[in-house]
This record gives sequence, structure tokens and C-alpha cells, in this order.
Amino acid sequence: MLSLSFPPPKVEAIPFYSNTGRQVFVLRADAIDPVISGNKWFKLRYYLAEAIQQHKTRIVTYGGAFSNHIIATAAACKAAGLACTGIIRGEQPLVLSHTLLQAQAMGMQLYFISRQDYAAKPVPGWVNPTTDYCIAEGGYGKTGAAGAATMVAGIEGFTHILCAVGTGTTMAGLITASPGTKVTGISSLKNNTALATEVAALTGTPAANVDILHEFHFGGYAKHKPELLFFMNKLFEQTGIPTDFVYTGKLFYGFHELLRQNYFVPGSKILLIHSGGLQGNLSLPKGTLMY
Ligand SMILES: *Cc1c(COP(=O)(O)O)cnc(C)c1O
Repeated sequence: MLSLSFPPPKVEAIPFYSNTGRQVFVLRADAIDPVISGNKWFKLRYYLAEAIQQHKTRIVTYGGAFSNHIIATAAACKAAGLACTGIIRGEQPLVLSHTLLQAQAMGMQLYFISRQDYAAKPVPGWVNPTTDYCIAEGGYGKTGAAGAATMVAGIEGFTHILCAVGTGTTMAGLITASPGTKVTGISSLKNNTALATEVAALTGTPAANVDILHEFHFGGYAKHKPELLFFMNKLFEQTGIPTDFVYTGKLFYGFHELLRQNYFVPGSKILLIHSGGLQGNLSLPKGTLMY
């Protein structure tokens, strides 16, 4: 059986913002586990439960060489006693990324496909529908959103929730779990305007009501600029909160901009979702970040 369970993530006030006239809190989902950090375990939980219920023995999923989803899947499958295979975007490199090495060390079998094939994501011929359970890239889907919703179980009273957006599955879960709270997503991708529709498809709300901001991507997915890294170090100095450069650094940066633009009326009570991803910072040159 699935032997994975974590205490619910803590909600912490961030005193640094106390003079802004807004109450600012952070959900420290990054702190639940060093490997399966953040939103990934929550997104995976019901997929894995369904796989076990259907007597599947192997999980097959998709991701890039630095994917938090890949590493979380490897760790969760190990804990659940399921075999797993990661279909990785791009030809096999001579030297594997630390993410893939760690996934492999936890028992994940890696299968590399060309970027063109990856874009089409055909279900490989070797997938056996009787024994294998496929999870979409990034855990996208209603089952993933239902799991992500449990990340904020019992948490209420916020006027706003802000989260980083990749596939939008986490945002969809937060929207479903928090009626009456305005959920705003900060996209980590460059101009992926299909995201609102993809989130809407998981929630049943009209895409026009899905609020995703597209101006804080710093060049695109997994791209960064000195300004972002400088901000992340500064944020750590000011608040003690470490962020990752792919998702949560951009989230907090966007949040600072929105504060400045008076996006939140005075008296707002804001919850930032720290969705984890810190392992990704290992791909930066040593010393780039102070934490
Ligand atoms: C994967 C990931 C996200 C994006 O989650 P989606 O549900 O795909 O939108 C956000 N933050 C971190 C740290 C992640 O690893």
C-alpha cells in the first residue's frame, strides 16, 4: 500500500510585509519533504491510489531532464512499491542531470525520446495497458487537480491565493478548493495563453474567469535573468524563504510587482503557495544563490 504521508503544509505569516497594509502568508508545501517537495506529491496522490486500486504495477510518465514531476514520481513510486518509467524529452545526454540521476537511483527506468516524438507524446508500444498506468506530463488532469486541492484542505479566510503555473493543474485544484477566494496564477511559461482554457477544462469555470498573468516568465520556461536571481537572494535575505528559479522565484517576483501596482486592496489577506521545486536550483552554477 501507499506508505507516503506527510503532515499538512504549514501556513506561515511573512512579517516582512506587515507594513504594506496587507496580510501576507505563505503555504510552505516546499517543506513537506526534501525530495517529493511542494505540489507534486499532492498532484500524484490520487493517480497512484487509482493505479494501486486497478492493480497496476508500473507508472509511466513524461518529463524533461530537470523535471520536478519526474523526481517526485520516482520517489512516490518507490515509497508505494510501484515500478516506474520516465519518458524523457530529448536524446540521452552523455552526462545525466542530477534530477535524472536521482530519479534513476530511486528505481525509475529512463526512456529517452526525440523532442519531436516527445511533442506528440504517443503512448509507446511497450506500454502494457494491463499492468501500466500512464500519468500525463506534469500530472495534468482532473485527478491531479483533485489531489492538488487537498494541499489547502481546511485553509480558509484568504481574499487571494497566488500560485505558480506550469500545466495549471495545481491552480485548478486551488480554484476548486477555495470558492470565494480570488486565485491568481503566475505563469512560468512564455505566452502560453492556452493555459486559462486548460485550467478551465479541469474546473468547469469559464476560461474568462481564470486569472493567469503572463508577464513574469523571465524569458520562458526554466529561463532566468540576473534580475530574477538577484531578487531571489534578496527575498531570502528579507524573509528567509528560499525559492526556485523555475516557478516560485517568478511567483514571488510577480507578487512584489502586484503589491507595487496596488493589485490587492488594503486589508487583503493573501496566501502565496510555495510549491517547492528547490532541487531545480542545483542546475545553477554553485554560489549563484546564497542558500
Ligand atoms: C510543477 C510545479 C509547478 C506547476 O504546477 P502545475 O500544476 O503544473 O501548474 C509549480 N511550482 C513548482 C515548484 C513545481 O514544481
